[in-house]
Amino acid sequence: MKINLRNFPAEGRDFEGEDPVEILDVSDPEYRFESPVNYRLHGQVLGHALVVTGRVWTCVGITCVRCLKDAERPVEVRDFVVHREIETTEDFADLTENLREDILLALPQNPLCSKDCRGLCPVCGQDLNERTCSCAKQAASPGSKRVEAGSTGTPWSALDRIKIARK
Ligand SMILES: [Zn+2]
Ligand SMILES: [Zn+2]
Repeated sequence: MKINLRNFPAEGRDFEGEDPVEILDVSDPEYRFESPVNYRLHGQVLGHALVVTGRVWTCVGITCVRCLKDAERPVEVRDFVVHREIETTEDFADLTENLREDILLALPQNPLCSKDCRGLCPVCGQDLNERTCSCAKQAASPGSKRVEAGSTGTPWSALDRIKIARK
């Protein structure tokens, strides 16, 4: 994103638009970028300095660390700020690198498909967002049913008794 510094109005100037996703130049396989980098900025020239503030945002494809599904997450920089000294001979200020850095810093770490993703059951692998499995219930209540099973003498009865005795 380049700002034309020629005839810059005293009251500043608004900039709205998008840069192609290629400016991000990310090779991290954890993140998939397909959306452009959007910006809505206000620039002002104060003496020998260019000050640009505003909002920058895009979308990133991630793999949820809990349920392993692919999902799209918004990436937003709400307080984008650039303060740069400019020479009177400069015609343009190129903010591409600032956009890039701030977006990369805003990327979600350990990304989730949604903040209350329930993940996969560690026992059977069921996606608990889709439906519940019975593993958690069995683990939570090792009581009545298993004792009954044990008393009828299944091959697992001895094991069941050990587990219960340990509790
Ligand atoms: Zn998830
Ligand atoms: Zn399960």
